[in-house]
Amino acid sequence: MSTRTAVITGASSGIGAATARQLAAAGYRVVLTARREDRINALAEELTAAGHQATPHVLDVTDRTAVDTFAAGLDRVDLLVNNAGGAIGTETVATADPADWRTMYEVNVLGTLNTTQALLPALTAAEGTVIVLSSTAGLATYEGGGGYVAAKHGAHVIAETLRLELCGQPVRVIEIAPGMVRTDEFALTRFRGDKDKADAVYAGVADPLTADDVADTITWAATRPPHVNIDLLVVRPRAQASNYKVHRKV
Ligand code: NAP
Repeated sequence: MSTRTAVITGASSGIGAATARQLAAAGYRVVLTARREDRINALAEELTAAGHQATPHVLDVTDRTAVDTFAAGLDRVDLLVNNAGGAIGTETVATADPADWRTMYEVNVLGTLNTTQALLPALTAAEGTVIVLSSTAGLATYEGGGGYVAAKHGAHVIAETLRLELCGQPVRVIEIAPGMVRTDEFALTRFRGDKDKADAVYAGVADPLTADDVADTITWAATRPPHVNIDLLVVRPRAQASNYKVHRKV
């Protein structure tokens, strides 16, 4: 029997890269996808050198033709981790640029839809698992978060709806919703490269979650027995009780 295969989108940094490392350590052959070729090549080399099976594949999840071509080239898929995504800007609803909202919707919602649709036949054949990495922003809103919150609500709805629609078929649908995670690029992307603003997100917070913390929840949920479906797992740092309430040392 061939090795269980996991496809991870957005594997070039942060949570996606950490998830690829942990799934490889758990025995999966990992297929690393993202737009930045150098990053996924380096990660694949690192994992291969450590004795794991890892294949890089450049993929923009918003490009449906590319996603379909990618899917056609896979012989087996047991796990899809829809991790590619992110936030752009903190403008209010009154002032936001619709182009930023469109970009966030494209990657967080349509990207997840594209990969899930394209890989669903293979996932069904393998009695597999779809994971949607949403966010606590997919469950509640906050000022300045409108575009990202709307997109992550969309990702949340994909997970909920797909689970209903697949009931009776041998595919699990799992949603992981992290709160504050300190990764290298998430806040930097949100603040358009402004490092001071990005750092301020985590200022005084004792221990934000790490990419490894979230990868751990993803790997745990994926490796439960096949009849156990973790519908929705919300994970936050202890210092964060809601999107609003974050304890900061002054
Ligand atoms: P990150 O380091 O910025 O990772 C985002 C990943 O998405 C990158 O690997 C990026 O790779 C990929 N990506 C972006 N657009 C893409 C596209 N069109 N096609 C393919 N890949 C694309 O951020 P992170 O913190 O690890 O976040 C990972 C996921 O967790 C995101 O969905 C994010 O919304 C979610 N999340 C993050 C937090 C947090 O606080 N950090 C909290 C809750 C949820 P390329 O640029 O190489 O394509």
